[in-house]
Amino acid sequence: MRFFVACTRDAVNEANEIHKTTPVAAAALGRLLTASAMMGCMMKNDSDLLTLMIRGDGPIGGIVATSDSNCRIKGYAYQPDAVLPLKPNGKLDVSGAIGAGTLSVIKDTGLKEPYFSQIELISGEIAEDLTHYFATSEQTPSSVALGVLVDRNRTIKQAGGFILQSLPTASAEAIDEAEKNILSMPPITSLLSSGSSQEDIIRLIAGKLNYEITDSLPVSYWCNCSRNRVEKALASLGAKGVTDIMREDGQAEMHCHFCGKNYHFSINDLESLLCDIKQ
Ligand SMILES: [Zn+2]
Repeated sequence: MRFFVACTRDAVNEANEIHKTTPVAAAALGRLLTASAMMGCMMKNDSDLLTLMIRGDGPIGGIVATSDSNCRIKGYAYQPDAVLPLKPNGKLDVSGAIGAGTLSVIKDTGLKEPYFSQIELISGEIAEDLTHYFATSEQTPSSVALGVLVDRNRTIKQAGGFILQSLPTASAEAIDEAEKNILSMPPITSLLSSGSSQEDIIRLIAGKLNYEITDSLPVSYWCNCSRNRVEKALASLGAKGVTDIMREDGQAEMHCHFCGKNYHFSINDLESLLCDIKQ
């Protein structure tokens, strides 16, 4: 069996500050970001990129999270200002905010066609949906837990999660033991709040099973956008597209959804870009 345990509080808090998310949007985005960090480090090469995309008919509309294999994550919610009443148990209504829709998993490993798989959301709570994804699309029985605790002042108090996967060689006894331990565990955010480390959590899941920690990586919020990349995106519109912008707007303002940075292109910038395209 293999485990991934993540504590993502600082990175999720950074996303929260960039996007000024409401508590329910912060919880939804934070859960997807946490999942992307763990699934990102399942990939092998530095240039591999994992993208998780949720689209739903609830007030958030959709969420995107990406991670590379070094747990450098970024993401955004379509409607970061989504507001919903708390559930009767006092919890943030993440599934209500997402609604019915789909979860897509895209893995870009440099092949001509990236891996793409899409499932219907079964709960909208994200962890259950990913468990369903692993079972149906990757044929890997998994247990996924994701949690984000938003403080009263809207900062992220705790964020984290785990993914436990049964490999084909796992014995029935080992699977039973881990399942039993997971069922009796407190929620991941309670464990993190009470000071449990990632290894404490692994120890709880493992119980009587032996385990070995093979790798440990820092999770960070990281956007790789740059003026150069934005220029390339503009150039991809072609000479006609750029000429249209020059005629209609006289300038271009490009916004990065992931980090909130704005890139301004004056009429002169656009003219020199047009020259480059035509060459
Ligand atoms: Zn950016």
